[in-house]
This record gives sequence, structure tokens and C-alpha cells, in this order.
Amino acid sequence: MPLIDARLLRMSQLYAPTLKEDPVDAEVISHKLLLRAAMMRKVAAGVYSFLPLGLRVLRKVEQIIREEQDRIGAQEMIMSIIQPAELWHESGRWDVYGPELMRFLDRHDHGFALSPTQEELITSLVRDELRSYRELPKSLYHIQWKYRDEIRPRFGLLRGREFVMKDAYSFHATQESLQEHYDEQSAAYGRICDRLGLDWRPVEADSGQIGGSVTTEFMALAEAGEDGILYCDCGFAANAEVALAEFELEEYRPHETNGELTKIHTPEIASIEELTSFLSIDKKSTVKALATKSADGAVTLLFIPGSHDLAAIKADRLLPGFTFMTDEEMEGAGLVKGFMGPVGLPDKVRVVADSSLRELSRWLTGANESDYHVAGAKPGRDFEVDSWADLSVALPGDACSVCGLPLKGARGIEVGQVFQLGTKYSESMQASFMDADGLEKHFIMGCYGWGVTRSIAAVVEQHYDDNGIIWPISVAPAEVVIIPLASGDEEVEPTAESLAELLTERGIESVIDDRDERAGVKFNDADLIGWPYQLIVGKRGLAEGIVELKTRVTNEKSTLALSEAVDTVEGLVLEARRSYL
Ligand code: ATP
Ligand code: MG
Repeated sequence: MPLIDARLLRMSQLYAPTLKEDPVDAEVISHKLLLRAAMMRKVAAGVYSFLPLGLRVLRKVEQIIREEQDRIGAQEMIMSIIQPAELWHESGRWDVYGPELMRFLDRHDHGFALSPTQEELITSLVRDELRSYRELPKSLYHIQWKYRDEIRPRFGLLRGREFVMKDAYSFHATQESLQEHYDEQSAAYGRICDRLGLDWRPVEADSGQIGGSVTTEFMALAEAGEDGILYCDCGFAANAEVALAEFELEEYRPHETNGELTKIHTPEIASIEELTSFLSIDKKSTVKALATKSADGAVTLLFIPGSHDLAAIKADRLLPGFTFMTDEEMEGAGLVKGFMGPVGLPDKVRVVADSSLRELSRWLTGANESDYHVAGAKPGRDFEVDSWADLSVALPGDACSVCGLPLKGARGIEVGQVFQLGTKYSESMQASFMDADGLEKHFIMGCYGWGVTRSIAAVVEQHYDDNGIIWPISVAPAEVVIIPLASGDEEVEPTAESLAELLTERGIESVIDDRDERAGVKFNDADLIGWPYQLIVGKRGLAEGIVELKTRVTNEKSTLALSEAVDTVEGLVLEARRSYL
């Protein structure tokens, strides 16, 4: 258990300005409570300072991560936050990373970036000095501030522009060696989640800006999570952005049309919602179109079932860097917004359809004419599909692509992600080693990111009640608060002081609320800050030789004989610590 500070903390001296009211611009629980409990303060959108209590939590989270990295042989170091632009040009990411990369010029007009991640820097660091297969594998990590100019910084520590990340990078001679370390890192990530007290799940994911193909995200389950997760009893779990699933569609085929291509007058019915209520049918019977443009100007219509959303990541794999067309661009290309369909399209427009639509022999879709849809549009007869692809975001209830059972949905906070990078960076940045066969080869790399500050918010999202935070003992700013109820009382105060000192001597992280405040204020703050145990010393109790113990997790109170209080609390703390090891 990472112990932060062996000294007794005193509330009378601590800088911990707790807030009674919810701050106005805080939307999610963790954001509200971390501010109210005086863990942090906002500096700018997505930028926070950590106050003494918050820093203690941060240090504990870091230490748990450190222990789990050291345990699997990763070595701690620290790399600079400032990175020369040249390195990013070498990897090719200077241009593709976009406005999220915070860039600046020095006084000599040399370009730099603030580190959002560190693949470039570490590859350049090792490429001239890690030379032989005999020195491999190597895994290096650091815990450090990262910078991303997020388009929507929000939810406090969940999506910041400045945040702490643990990032590790590994170098291998063989894929087997990479796989081995990737598995070790994944296991370490699971242990970190457990030690932080998180309810979590590993999911299949997309590798995004980082690159590579094999990757797993570690999700803390929480309603405030920005990620949708789909999972199944068979063990399948994936980020909804990439999850594969199967679902059935229902053909719309009114009797009178006999399945022939039929135009339907749908005045001002330009959305799927309006269309389904107009015809009293299910969204699963409709096909919608999205107009996209590639960098070279090529226009592609993506067709997906009206019941599902387009998965932007899947579409981007197919049409790298595509954008949705503006109203003017659509008009210029001869497309009719709200009424697009595959029949009678201008020649140059490509048609790509979601694989699920293969099951639908006749489509109900736009007629490419204002205020009209068509029913009975038959692929192969009335129009051609240029290619089929998996394009839609799977929904809870869709069938698991592994076993066919209905998928379940959950929301998650991505606290960590591990990637097999392969040779993406070692090739672009020419980092190689001499292998056993005497040949020069590119390193096979892995990288492993953990959101340190984000995971603090994730812990709070899972551990709170109406009164405040309920820290798991592993990351609590201290383990026990001793609350004397009558300040200045000649019996209460010295007794509380001596309990606090005895506990501190035994290595229990203790804090005494020695402020000249009413009992109610002390109780409220103790609950809000979320110390795991509260030892309450009152005049009436002392007269009978007892003190009160409140366990924050259950909010249950019990009485202890004064003579046994230190032993009992020590026993409880040690047991609680063990359950997080
Ligand atoms: P997201 O999809 O949430 O934007 P990401 O996949 O871009 O995150 P990675 O590049 O995988 O993030 O970074 C590693 C870890 O750093 C993430 O798993 C997450 O915990 C954390 N992280 C990333 N972006 C932020 C942010 N803006 N604020 C706080 N933590 C972040
Ligand atoms: Mg990620």
C-alpha cells in the first residue's frame, strides 16, 4: 500500500477549502465532488491545479501504477514534455495529428510541440544506442503531464487539455516477445484497476492516432463515460465504435406495390423519424444515406439502416480523412438533401452500403427528388452497390458476431489502452537493431497508456453517495480522520490528540479535525472528503469510556471501548489495505 506521508495531518492547518454548493459549470459527479472536496481547482478549460488533498490521491494512484509497471520489468524514466517538430515530421504525424497538438515556435522560429504522447521521442531516444538483439526486449515508462488541445475539454479530469499519463513503450526483436509483454501489460492494467477499486472491463478497440492493429481499452464502467461498450455473456466486449454485430432488418413491401419500384410522395418528410411515423413503420425498414467527400473530391454515398448510426471510425478506415458534405457541396454534386437514394444517382457518385443491407432485397429509401421516397428499390436491378462494408454502430440487442446472443450495452470511461504498434514508428523513424542472424531489423514496438488523472475521476464516478466521495482506502488522501466534538474541552481534545498520535505511530495515515468548528461542519466535511474511517470523540461517550467509529463505505456507526479503539482501527485499516493489494 503506497503510504504518502507518515505525519499526522491537521485540518486546522491543511489548505482544504471545501465547498457547500455544487460549482455551476460542473456536470458530472466526479467533477463536482473533486472541486467541492477541495481536491483541485480549475485554471482554464480542461486545466486544473491539484490542492494538497488531491495531490495525495494523485501520488497514490501514480504509486500503484509504478509498482505494477516495475513488477513486470518496465523501467521508469522521464522524458521531456517539449518535443522538436522534426521528430513529428519524421513520423509523419506533424500533419495528421491536427489541432489537438499544441504547437509553438521558440525565439529562433524552431517548431515544437507539447507532448500529447511520446512514440516519436522514445524512438529517437533509443534508435542510436539500443543496437543488438541481445539488449532486447526493453520496456520504458514515465508518468508525466500530457497536452492535447481537445475540441471539447469537459467533465473535469475526465477530458482535460493538461493531464497526467503513464506511458510505456517496449522494443522487441520478435512478435512473440511483443505479445508476451503486451499480455503482461494487460495483466498489469487489470491489477491497477483492481487496486484502484474500479469495476472495469477490457474491450476491443480502435487504435486511432497512435496506430497499430492489436489494441485493448480498459474501461471503468460508469454512466458518465463517454464511450459506449457492447458486451456479451460469451466474453466478447468491444467499444461500440468498432463492435461487430449482426441484426435483422424488416423489408417494407406494401401489397399494392407487388415489390416493384414505387415512388411515394413524402412531402417535407426528410428524416428517418418523420418517415417512420408517416408510414407507421419501424426504422429497421428504412435505408438512410450520408454524403461524404474524400480529399481528392470523390463523392461517396454511405447507406446504412435507418435503425443504426454510422460508425465514423469504420467509415474512416474505408475512406481515410473523409468529410461529410455541406449543403452547398451536396447541391453542387446533384444530391437532394433529406431525399438521397441509390436509384438514379449522378454517374460519378459511388455507392457503399452497410453489410447488413445485403439481407434486404428491396429498400425503402430516398428517391433523389425533393419530397419523394422510393419503396421496392432492388439492388442489382434498380441500382448497383459499388462495395459493401461494415459501417454501422452496433446497438444493445443486436446479435453478438461471435455467438449470436443479444449484446448488452454499458457506458465506460477509458482509463487505459495498450497497443501493439509493430514497426510503424521504427520504420518511419529508421530505428533498427542487429538481429542474431546478423541482419539489421526494425524494432517491433508496443505502447501502453494509462490516464492517471482521468482514473482519479473514474474512481469517484464509482465511489460516492449524496454526501460526498467514498475513497477506496488504496487511494484515499488519508485513512482515518479523528474528530473531536468539543474543541477546547480538557478531556475530549487530549484524548483525540493521543488517539491520532498513536494511530500515526502505528503507520496509519491519520488526520485530526482540530478546527474550532461545529460538529455538523466536521461531519459534513469528513463525509465530503471521503476519509475511509471516522473516529469520533465526544464528551458523553468519553464519560462512558467509549468513542464512535463510522465506516464511510457503509456509513455504519459502531461504538468502541476507548482502550481498544487504536487496535480496532489499526486492524480494520490493515485488513482494508490487504483487500486492495
Ligand atoms: P480518448 O479516446 O478518450 O480521447 P485516447 O484514446 O485518445 O483517449 P490514448 O492516446 O489512448 O487516449 O491515451 C492513453 C490514456 O490517456 C487514455 O486511455 C486516457 O485514459 C488518457 N487520456 C487521453 N486523453 C485524455 C484527456 N483529454 N484527458 C484525460 N485523460 C486522457
Ligand atoms: Mg485510447
